[in-house]
Parts: sequence; C-alpha cells; structure tokens
Amino acid sequence: MEYNYLSLLKKIKTYIPKDNIITDPTLCYAYGTDASLYRITPKIVLKVRHAEEMSKFIKDALFYKTPITFRAAGTSLSGQALSDSILVVLHENYWKKITIIDNGKEVSLEPGLIGGDVNLILKPYGYKIGPDPSSINSCKIGGIAANNSSGMCCGVKLNAYHTLKGMKIIFCDGTVLDTLNKNSVDTFKQKHFDLLDSIYELRLQLLENKPLREKVQTKYRIKNTTGYGINALLDYENPIDILQHLLIGSEGTLGFIANINLETIPLKNNQMTGFFVFENIENACEAVVEITKLNPDAIELMDFLSLKSLVPISEIGFYDSHLSKGSKPAALLIQIQGDSSDSLIDKAASINKESLRHNLLFKYDFTKDENQTKNLWDLRKALLPKVGAHRERGSTLIVEDVTVPLTCLAQATIQIQNLLKKYDYTDGVIFGHAMDGSLHIVFSQQFNHQEGHKKYQNFIDELVRIIVNDFNGSLKGEHGTGRNMAPFVEQEWGKDAYSIMQKVKTLFDKTFLLNPGVIINDDPEAHLKNIKQKEIHHSDLDKCMDCGFCEKVCPSEGYTFTPRQRNTILDKIKSLDNQSNHYNTKKTHKIFQHYGVDTCATTGACELSCPVGINVGQLILTEKSKSDVLVKSKFVDLIAKNFEITTDIMRFNLSSLSFLKKLLGKEFVERKSMQINQKISSIPYVGSNFPNALKKNQLQKIAQSDNQLKQVVYIPSCINRLMGNNDSNKQESPLIEIVVKVLSYFGYNVLIPQNINELCCGLAFKSKGFLKSYHFKNDEMLSSITEMKLTSDNTPILMDHSSCFDCLIEKNKNMNIYEPFRFIDEYILDRFASSPSKDKVLVHIPCSSIKNKLHQSFYNVMNKISENIEYTELECCGFSGDKGFFYPKLNENALRKMSRDKISCDYGVSNSRTCEIGLADHTGLEFNSIFHLFNQLIESQSLKLEQVE
Ligand SMILES: Cc1cc2nc3c(=O)[nH]c(=O)nc-3n(C[C@H](O)[C@H](O)[C@H](O)COP(=O)(O)OP(=O)(O)OC[C@H]3O[C@@H](n4cnc5c(N)ncnc54)[C@H](O)[C@@H]3O)c2cc1C
Ligand code: SF4
Ligand code: SF4
Repeated sequence: MEYNYLSLLKKIKTYIPKDNIITDPTLCYAYGTDASLYRITPKIVLKVRHAEEMSKFIKDALFYKTPITFRAAGTSLSGQALSDSILVVLHENYWKKITIIDNGKEVSLEPGLIGGDVNLILKPYGYKIGPDPSSINSCKIGGIAANNSSGMCCGVKLNAYHTLKGMKIIFCDGTVLDTLNKNSVDTFKQKHFDLLDSIYELRLQLLENKPLREKVQTKYRIKNTTGYGINALLDYENPIDILQHLLIGSEGTLGFIANINLETIPLKNNQMTGFFVFENIENACEAVVEITKLNPDAIELMDFLSLKSLVPISEIGFYDSHLSKGSKPAALLIQIQGDSSDSLIDKAASINKESLRHNLLFKYDFTKDENQTKNLWDLRKALLPKVGAHRERGSTLIVEDVTVPLTCLAQATIQIQNLLKKYDYTDGVIFGHAMDGSLHIVFSQQFNHQEGHKKYQNFIDELVRIIVNDFNGSLKGEHGTGRNMAPFVEQEWGKDAYSIMQKVKTLFDKTFLLNPGVIINDDPEAHLKNIKQKEIHHSDLDKCMDCGFCEKVCPSEGYTFTPRQRNTILDKIKSLDNQSNHYNTKKTHKIFQHYGVDTCATTGACELSCPVGINVGQLILTEKSKSDVLVKSKFVDLIAKNFEITTDIMRFNLSSLSFLKKLLGKEFVERKSMQINQKISSIPYVGSNFPNALKKNQLQKIAQSDNQLKQVVYIPSCINRLMGNNDSNKQESPLIEIVVKVLSYFGYNVLIPQNINELCCGLAFKSKGFLKSYHFKNDEMLSSITEMKLTSDNTPILMDHSSCFDCLIEKNKNMNIYEPFRFIDEYILDRFASSPSKDKVLVHIPCSSIKNKLHQSFYNVMNKISENIEYTELECCGFSGDKGFFYPKLNENALRKMSRDKISCDYGVSNSRTCEIGLADHTGLEFNSIFHLFNQLIESQSLKLEQVE
C-alpha cells in the first residue's frame, strides 16, 4: 500500500474503531462488486458511523490525497459504487434516523434507510416517498438521492430532485452545510462565498446561452441521469438551492448527503391493473400516447422479445398462438389508482375503449383482485431474472437504460431490437416505463475473451449513436451515468453543456477526491475497463447477477459476509483454482471458512429475496460437504446410525453443564463460556437461556399415549427430546409433555413412533454438510411414520420444531406434515372460544415458516388468542440449529435489525426451540412455543371448547 494510504490509516485509527477499518485484500475484494458489469477492489473499506466521523475522515482523505467512493446498498447498475481506493460504507448500526414531519407530508431521512422501509413507516400516515426504483426494497436513501433514482410511477416530477426540501451535505474539505438550518447556511455563505458566487456565475452563463438553455429544458422533459443535473442552474435562483439540487444525481462526486428532507406523496386507496397486447410495437406505443391522457399511474411496455420470453402465461391465458397473430406483438401492463372505486371503474372503462382503437390482440381486463394483480406484476418482474438466470454460464448481465421522447418510443424499440439482433444478443429483452419513454435493455455477454469486449464496445457505440443522434434521448434515464456512460456524456450533451458539468465538478471537488472516474471521465474507453469476468461453477452460483437484493435479509450482514459477498469470494476461489494459484487459494479459503462458511446460518433466507431464487446457504452447504466429506463422513455415518447413543451422550453433556452452572454459578459459566467461545468456536456459549437436559425416562413416560378419539402423529424433534427448560424459564413442564397435554385436551389420540429416540429429520447433518447421513435419517424417519398403524391416510403429522418440519416436508411434499401454527390453525382454531389475552406478545416467524408461506396461520392463531401482538419481522434470527451456541455473534447481529421497542412486550412465542433460545438471550424476554401459550390458556380456563368430535 502506498505511503499516503499508510499515513491516512495511522491517522484515522485514532478516531475510527479498528473493526470498522478493513484492509485485508480478500475482505476488500468482497466489497468490490455492485450490481453493474464492473468489479474493482478497494484498498481500504471503511465503515463510518456518523456525520462528525465522516466530516473528519473526508478532511483527512483530502489531506492525504486518497480518493473516496461512498456506498449505500451497492445496487447501482452503472459502476458508480466501486472504488480502487477507499470505499466508504455506511455502518450498518447507524444512519437510520427518520423523522416524520407535518403528519407525514414531509420526512427527514438519514442515508442508510432502505427506501421500502421508509414507505412502510409512512404508510399509516397515508404517504410514501416519490422516488420509486424497482429496487426500492433493497436500495438506500443515500443511493436513491445520489442517483436520482426513479421507477414506473414517479415520472420526471416525483423524483428526489423535485421533492427535495432540504439537505445536510458534507463537502470534500469536511465542511458541513445543513440547508434547513439558518445558522449553518449563514456560516456557509460567509466561508464559501466563492463557491456560491461561481455557481451563480454558471447560472448566468446558462441563462445567456439561449440554445443551450432550451436544450437543457427539452432534455429534462424526459428522464435523464446522464451527467450532472444542470437544470438546477435554471430552475433555482438561490445558489444554496442550486447547490443542493446539483447534489441530487451527482453519484457521490460532489459531496456526501448526510441527511435529506423530502416532500412525500399521498397514497391512493384503490388500484386496478390490466394487461393489453397489441398487434405490433407501433400500435402499443400509439395506445400509450392516448392512454397517458387518461391519467393512468403506470404503463409498462414489454417488447416482442420480452413477451416471447414469458409465454406461455397460463395464469392469464396467453399462449404462443397469440404471438403468431400479430407481426411482432407488444404488451402494456397498465395500473390505475384512485381514491374511490367508482372513479377507477370509469377510468378502466375509458382505457379499455381507447385500447380497442389500436389493434388490440389480447386483453386481461383490469382487476382489483390481489392475487391476479400480483400475477400480472410478476410477469413484469420476471423479465430481468429471466435473462439473468438463463444467461450462458460465465457471462455477465448487462442492463442499459435509455430514455427517448414518447413519440419516438416505437421507433427506438425497433431500432434497439435490430441492434440486439445484429450483435447476436439473442437473449436480450427490452421493457420500460412507457409513459416516460424509458427503455431497459437487458442482455448478457461473455467477457473472458477479447472479442467479447470488442462486441460490447461496438454495440454500445451504435446504441449511443442511435439514442443521441436519432432520438435526442438520454443514455441513462434512471440508473445514473457511473463509469458506464461517463465517456459519452459529452456526446449526449454537447461541448458547452459538458464544459459546465466539468466546471461543476471542479468547483465542488477540484482534486477529484470524490468518486473519480464517475460522471466526468476523459478516458474514452473507461466503460470497457474493469469489467468483471464470471467463472463457471455449474451450480446456481452461475445465475447470480450481483444485484445485492439478498443482503439486507442476511443475518451475517455487518458481522461477516453477505450472500453476494459469499458468491463473490466463491468466484474468486474458482478463479484462483483455475490459475493453479495454490498459495492465494489457501489464504482465501482460510478467510472464507470463517466469513463465508462458519458464519452462514445456511437457512436460506437469501433465497426469498433473490430475483433468481439462489439459496446461498445451500451453495455453502455444498462447499462444506466437499471439504468435510472425506475426513469425517465415516464417523458421522456412525453417529447417524447410532443416534440414540449420540443423544444420550449429548444429554449427559447438557447435564454436566447444568451441574457446572450450579457449582460455579450461572453468571460465571456464562461469562467464561463466552470468553472461551470467542477463541475456540467449537466450545459452546452457555448463555442464560441455555437449556437443561430433558431426562430420557421423562420422554418414555410421555410417549405412552392412551387410545382416544382422532389420531395425530406427533414427532418430537431431537432438539426438544434432548433439551428441557432452562433455569430462567417459568414453565415447569417440558414442551413434549405440553404438546401431548394440549392435543389430548382437544380430543386427540397422540401417537409417537416407537423408535422415536433413534429418529431425526436429518437437519442436524444437512446443516453441517453431511448429505449422505441427512438422507439416511430423513428416509428412516419417513419409513417409521409409514409403518405406523394409522386409521386414515390423512392423519396429520405434527413436528414441534419449525426447521425440522421444513426439512421433512422438503423431501416429502405430499405428506400431511404440520408445524405447530398451521396445525392449530387447521385442526384446533375453530374448536374453542376464548377471550383474547391483554398481554403484549412478541411473535417470531422463523425463516423456515416464512419459506413455507405460513404467515397467515401465524396471524390467524395469534389474532384469536391475543389482542396485543407484535412481530419480530426478522427474515432469519441467525440461531440456525445449534449454530447459535457456537456463533452467538451471528444471532446477536441478526437481532440488532429488530426495533428495540419490541422488547417492551410481556413475552414471546414461536415454533422453533432454538430461535426461542436466541431470542430470549438477546431480548431478555421469555420465549416459548405456542403450545405453552395454549397450555396456559387451558389452565387459566380462558379457553372454552365449542365442539369435541
Ligand atoms: C434489479 C435492479 C433493478 C433496479 N431498478 C431501478 C429502477 O427501477 N430505477 C432506478 O433508478 N434504479 C434502479 N436500479 C439501480 C439502483 O438500485 C438504484 O439506482 C438505487 O437507488 C441505488 O441505491 P443504492 O443504495 O444501492 O446506492 P449505491 O449503489 O450504493 O450508490 C449509488 C451512488 O450514490 C453514491 N452515494 C451513496 N450514498 C451516498 C451519500 N450518502 N451521499 C452521496 N453519495 C452517495 C454512491 O457513491 C454511488 O455513486 C436497479 C438495480 C437493480 C439491481
Ligand atoms: S444471490 Fe441473488 S439476490 Fe444475491 S446478489 Fe446474487 S442474484 Fe442478487
Ligand atoms: S443462508 Fe442465511 S446466512 Fe447464509 S447467506 Fe443466505 S441469508 Fe446469509
């Protein structure tokens, strides 16, 4: 590392904690990916906590001449969130303050908040923020503002630029300006008079240049994020207003946005969506022009290639035969919103009438139905993943984003289609926000050979010519210039405008400290450098398009790696393997073992938010099984085949720990075990909710059930067979006893397999990568169940632990298997009356229940028995089987995402014993199974049976 970086490091270590400074090359490499086609490894990654720290650091970076790039969620598509110098990320525990102003009409936001989360908070007030990129559930306010992002409804009027009310900015010399604070503004005016004066000069220069002035006005009638937003020089007279509007869309090249106030948009109560297919693109685009006059909220265009990639669409009855009816059909997905149902119906009728005038081939009429609406939007959302997931292995996904005047939309689409054909991009699709003339072009390219670069270069050159020369369009409508279109800003805007943009950059940042190479870049081939080359893995990893949508749900985000970073390093390991670089492979493997493998919960929460459905946990398990299998599999097979003995040994270990706690004191064992665990992760952390052993004879006693009425097969998981209650738990009976008691109360004959002590669903083996033993145990459990003498094929099978239920049902989808909540919902809920409890209950829906879409059962059960319910809203709590005992920090890290006010609940319930232990440890609340709650209701006589069959 160069001397200036070393000096900077020395300086910043005096005020930035060492854990927040990352210099290891493998860890830095993991941050070298955003959602674009580029990959650049930073020398240093810094996690900055607050504005004061940021201001101090920026000042030091300026002094030591070490360029910096800010990163919010890293979902940018043009390469603007990458750096070969210092990448500054927002520390995951900070930058999330939100202040609701004027009952929701305005909102003050820190840059680390996720856009979708802000909208959830605003929803009860009846508002949302204006910018609506389709990545809103992953991207952060800092990135949304710095890219001036927009989506299908916000058009050119509701983006951050037009809804901006104020901003706190940190400039490259460390100066902080709060445009909403009079003192701050006055001080800034005094100290930075020259900057403000020069900005005003630029305004005058632009006002005096009539052709340029008109050009700027014309170009911002459509979406444009190429270059700086120099419309600010025309739209505002006050230099402070100009300055803060220039920051919007500046991609971190002019200053850091430490806070932003936005005016919000009122939510409309009703909405309808319809799908219309026209004979050709011209007809579709003519329809757009006319339908736009009827005030729809969104019109999404899908070109012929998009449609072709989607058919057959059986949910709406659209098949291949429909495609052959027109020359090259194109579709519009139209959404209308309104305050009253009647006005919507009128609007739908007008649009239907209008569509008939444009050679309509097929229509799926406007619907309000939630499922049908979801099906329709899923079509649109499927387009990007379709190309992403099915692209050639080892290729890189490219998303270009142009905008043309609405009147040219059809012609532009046809020309781009021809261009894709000319360059043999046969997987390419074009879709976009039609009302805005916005077109997304998605295709893939292999970059592992020089011809690939050349082909992409020629394609881009031609695309630029078409958009600029033929249509006077924007090369980037929404996604920002980045390094992808930086070489073409002058071509799009012309010499005079580009010269103003260059002046803007030097006024704010004359040494190019902030995000150099982005927006203003003299290198005509900048867009061809640092393109990432993907390795071929022959697994789901080949589908990954680095979008980063999986990051926010990952329990290890902020502690070790995110799913995207795991994929990035797996790619790196493959590349090193291919180069036979054994030394570096070994080093990288070592880092990956902790950051990628050991601290991955492997529960697959990432799969649920991944557009192409990648379960990174599964990839990690496969990796793990490769490395462990040869060494330990015979021993593990032995354990699997002698499971009762194994659990006996574990029971003995648990008893010994309980004895130790009694002997040495609970707090001492807790503290000591944490210290040892931090050094040797194979020694468990014995937290305050660490369970005592459940005596085996206790289980045998329970297992002898009487012959009563209806049958239910009850499979106590090995976890619940092994673990009794803990010392701090108020429950006296173990869960198994409680389950049998509750089931019997509702008139069930509870059957437990004879050889239950030998049984395990196999998850304990699967989660450690021992796939052979997993299959053996899973099959063994299944045959034990099928051998039971049941009176009906439909006899329900109840597993008392959510992830074991998931593990069993995954391989046996047609079986009648239940976890507690769905079982209660289907078999018990309508059999009693109860007066809902007033206690405030915190409910945790584990990731395995989320994966199996069991939310509704949780809601149904809880709504009947309690009036006061909060949900943890965690996608994964990170405890993951027994991992929480060995990696308690993973669990702690995941739970930091839960808002602290939930801790004010009286107690918690769930359907997973291990999640309950982790939640109890880190919230201080007592957590139990839902069956415990039912037992309490029975004992307190709050339940009244309505019917017993
Ligand atoms: C599948 C997919 C779909 C997408 N759809 C859309 C879409 O519909 N519309 C759209 O506009 N975009 C879209 N994007 C692009 C991207 O998600 C958005 O532009 C998003 O707003 C970027 O936010 P981020 O938090 O990821 O920012 P990042 O990518 O981390 O950063 C974006 C830029 O802002 C700078 N920056 C970040 N924080 C700050 C700060 N506090 N102060 C100053 N500069 C800062 C960074 O240096 C960078 O230049 C999509 C991306 C993907 C992968
Ligand atoms: S795993 Fe999925 S969500 Fe995560 S970066 Fe890859 S494609 Fe995106
Ligand atoms: S399985 Fe869980 S911990 Fe592992 S990468 Fe996916 S979300 Fe993260």
